[in-house]
Amino acid sequence: MKFKIANILLGLSVAGIYCLHRTFISVSLLWMLPCFLLHGTVVILGCIKIGWSFFLPVVCSSNTSSRVVALTFDDGPNKDFTPFIIDTLSRNNIKATFFCIGKNIPGNEDILKRMELEGHTVGNHSNSHHFWFDLFSARKMLADMQEVDKKVYAITGRKLTMFRPPYGITNPNVAKAIKMGNYTPVGWNIRSLDTVAKDKKQLLARIESRLKPGAIILLHDSIKLTSEALPEAIAMIRKNGYDIVPLSELFD
Ligand SMILES: [Zn+2]
Repeated sequence: MKFKIANILLGLSVAGIYCLHRTFISVSLLWMLPCFLLHGTVVILGCIKIGWSFFLPVVCSSNTSSRVVALTFDDGPNKDFTPFIIDTLSRNNIKATFFCIGKNIPGNEDILKRMELEGHTVGNHSNSHHFWFDLFSARKMLADMQEVDKKVYAITGRKLTMFRPPYGITNPNVAKAIKMGNYTPVGWNIRSLDTVAKDKKQLLARIESRLKPGAIILLHDSIKLTSEALPEAIAMIRKNGYDIVPLSELFD
């Protein structure tokens, strides 16, 4: 929708400059250049900022005023860290959402079974998590996404409904694939930056400073620091007066 508005605005600006040029020859067509540059910049930002919902509406937080947040973990299942993370969640009676990469599932079926048995939600984070995923055609993206559905269904018997785009990038093809697959796109509004955080202190401080009602927190169950910091992160979130609820409950 916002993408369409940006295109309409570009079209109107270019047409306006052309008309002015035809009427007053002193108006240069070069004025179109800043219009294209501005449009290009906005579109690129729209691709990388999932919270803008630029190409399609993406669930990135809840409008609730209640002090509740949801935890989401990307890029697993991971033999080394996901079981430890599930143990921590279980000890704290927390249900989270795991956006799994399909290619990581073979050999980790027991982890998927645990997620299902212990009441966590599994989401689709693409099969390949390919670096150029965003340049795939919509059909190729959908085929990649459906691979994950098949793998998870064979293990848990559950059909996946949520999709989180790899790298949080959206574009017209990602939007089309999500629509064709009838997925609910899910983003975040607290990016923990656990993949680049130097230590626990930095990670916890970043999450704490961004806590707000209805937030969806992005973490990774493929990172050692995240698995080690999780017990303290949970304690810190609760100390700030927030309940950690399943993603579905955030919207009740
Ligand atoms: Zn990822």
